[in-house]
Amino acid sequence: MKMTVQNAKPLAGFIDLHIHTTASDGTVAPAEVVETAYALGLEAVAITDHDCLNGISEAKEAGQRLGQEIIPGCELAAHTPYGEMHIVGLWAESGNPGLEELLATQREMRKTRNQEILLGLRRIGINLNDTDLAAEVDGGASVGRPHIARAIVHKGFALSVQDAFKCYLVPGKPAYVPRRLLPPEEILVVLKKAGITTIFAHPMSLPAPEAWIGREVARLTELGLLDGLEAYHPEHDRAKVQYVEKLACELGLLLSGGSDFHGTVKPKIKMGVGEGRLRVPVALLERIKARRVQVGLPV
Ligand code: AMP
Ligand code: FE
Ligand code: FE
Ligand code: ZN
Repeated sequence: MKMTVQNAKPLAGFIDLHIHTTASDGTVAPAEVVETAYALGLEAVAITDHDCLNGISEAKEAGQRLGQEIIPGCELAAHTPYGEMHIVGLWAESGNPGLEELLATQREMRKTRNQEILLGLRRIGINLNDTDLAAEVDGGASVGRPHIARAIVHKGFALSVQDAFKCYLVPGKPAYVPRRLLPPEEILVVLKKAGITTIFAHPMSLPAPEAWIGREVARLTELGLLDGLEAYHPEHDRAKVQYVEKLACELGLLLSGGSDFHGTVKPKIKMGVGEGRLRVPVALLERIKARRVQVGLPV
């Protein structure tokens, strides 16, 4: 009897252009991310750690070993009147001095802020020191609230990372400290100079009026700084996806999408599919690549 393996590659034809690893605040190592992507049949995945490129070489090695396409990337946050604007950069390679300096500055600003968060925790009787925090960093370069949340859990002050966030680390809570961030154009200009494709990540997660988001996207596009919008993301419902698609169409912007996979930091989010409904077709990546080729950038 002939046996067929059903769903051997369940995500063939799809991609995931937004993934975090242990290089920043994810809990899965880059090589393991690539192995999972390969097992799922994803056509390509972008490694987009916060403020660093440290996971890229391991991911590329695993990609070469398996024949899995990897897009090197990163995710940066910029200041807006409504909070953090997240920018995913695709084809971000180490070795560009401007980019390396920007990423190093962001990580330094994180270190200062992490100390302020630890101080806030100490004021309410939660004593965590640098060693406690370092114990939560699995070889990564970019340290933030998820690592602090894990340290809080390990010291017995919360039952889960989610609880630690909810009780201590979000706006209005005793140890919340906002990040000091640069305006989007300052970040985007560095990325563009480094030949990086710039994507406004999960734009509808920003608690801003839709009209403001539309105007800001138009402004950054007219400045030649923005290449695309991440329409497909677990935080975007159907109406938000449609708004972003329309905006991209009106402004001639590319569309992107990804799960924002973080491992157990976001336990409901699975690679490639988010909470289950997400699918990002490989045709989007083909369009992104075509646009890069048009302007002489490598793919
Ligand atoms: P930071 O960059 O240090 O401000 O931390 C933000 C990161 O924390 C995000 O990228 C997520 O990985 C994670 N995060 C944010 N909010 C929550 C939450 N409520 N529960 C768990 N993780 C969260
Ligand atoms: Fe994160
Ligand atoms: Fe983000
Ligand atoms: Zn992300």
